[in-house]
Amino acid sequence: MSLIPDVPRLFIDSSFIEGDVVVLDKDQSHYLIKVLRLKPLDQVLIFNGRDGEWLSQLEPGETRKMAVLRPLRQTRPQAPANDLHYLFAPIKHARLDYMVQKATEMGVSHLRPVHTQYSQSARVNLERMRANAVEAAEQCGLLSVPTIIEDVSLPQALAALEPDRLLIFCDEAAEMFNPVKALEQHKPSSKLAILIGPEGGFSHQERTMIKERSLTLRLSLGPRILRADTAAIAALAVVQAVLGDWR
Ligand code: SAM
Repeated sequence: MSLIPDVPRLFIDSSFIEGDVVVLDKDQSHYLIKVLRLKPLDQVLIFNGRDGEWLSQLEPGETRKMAVLRPLRQTRPQAPANDLHYLFAPIKHARLDYMVQKATEMGVSHLRPVHTQYSQSARVNLERMRANAVEAAEQCGLLSVPTIIEDVSLPQALAALEPDRLLIFCDEAAEMFNPVKALEQHKPSSKLAILIGPEGGFSHQERTMIKERSLTLRLSLGPRILRADTAAIAALAVVQAVLGDWR
């Protein structure tokens, strides 16, 4: 994967057809014209999660300050997306933003906040999560933006997982064992989910409920208790390296 240096990338939720134009919304027009100060014929890389990545150019003569892009040529075809769900107990604002950005960079396909007994935040701003995911996807060259799934309780989240999806339950109380070896005991699978708990950890009752699910691997991430956002990155790195798209 290579990005074209100095050419901004933008996620646009509409189809790209050679020779046709894409009219941007107010916020994206403002970003290109006022923030980046692009001029007519300047280039922008665009992706929509369906048509791969395209090189486009800013058309001259935008109307009512709405930027118009003309797709010129496809620079990368759409690659099949990962199937890696990231389930996490919501944490507070700035660290939630960070977690969503990092999980996106690490290649998750779905993000789902899960309310647990010791969750810190009762309400989650899904729009804000999506904005963070879009920004991270634009910056790190992804061809699609992870899907943000509405927040639910832990029992509902467990019930919604397909039976053949391996759930990697990150638990600081798990007996310490090399996580690489633990993951290697599972076939590289196309369907994975990682679960990270809240700052207060899981309750005894929740641990029991999670462990009762059949295709579940209880994973230790080493001898230290990591903050939830650190645990997210550690878990995603080891899972991507052993079972995911770093192989
Ligand atoms: N229960 C802990 C406490 O209050 O002492 C803290 C929980 S930790 C801050 C937040 C989450 O990160 C945990 O629920 C777990 O999913 C994950 N986590 C942190 N350290 C971990 C480790 N060493 N192994 C596996 N998971 C870990």
